[in-house]
Amino acid sequence: MVSERLKALLDDILAGRAPNAGRFCGHCYQPLSEGRELCPHCGRSTPACAPVAAVPLEVIEMHRRRRGREGLVVRSVAWGGLSAGVVIALLPLAFADVQLWTVLAFFGLLAFFYLLSANLANSVGDALGYRWGYSLFRKRWERFVGRRDG
Ligand SMILES: [Zn+2]
Repeated sequence: MVSERLKALLDDILAGRAPNAGRFCGHCYQPLSEGRELCPHCGRSTPACAPVAAVPLEVIEMHRRRRGREGLVVRSVAWGGLSAGVVIALLPLAFADVQLWTVLAFFGLLAFFYLLSANLANSVGDALGYRWGYSLFRKRWERFVGRRDG
């Protein structure tokens, strides 16, 4: 699969911060400096596996989908936690009417769930999103490599 360095470069290409041009390993598209004959990521040599001048659009597209999937999971966890928090924060108001303590509880619970869902999004959401994005990318990558290498 692709290296962390290529992932960072693909992020830059998607954001328009880097051109999709250079010298890349012909197997894993790891950026290779001029004259380098051995890919530091997958170990293939350039005489056996010719380097390419650009990352295939299909690889960029699968990376974009991977990032999209990761973001979707993180946002879903954040909004899910916040929505649950709003419902729970409204319970004292709904059952004990508007009083000082129910109003204070409302804002206190909102703040608590806001922090909780932000934390969950960054921990659980991040981990789940990473795994889901990774499995999506791996399937597409294997199909792509299978087709590319015949
Ligand atoms: Zn390589």
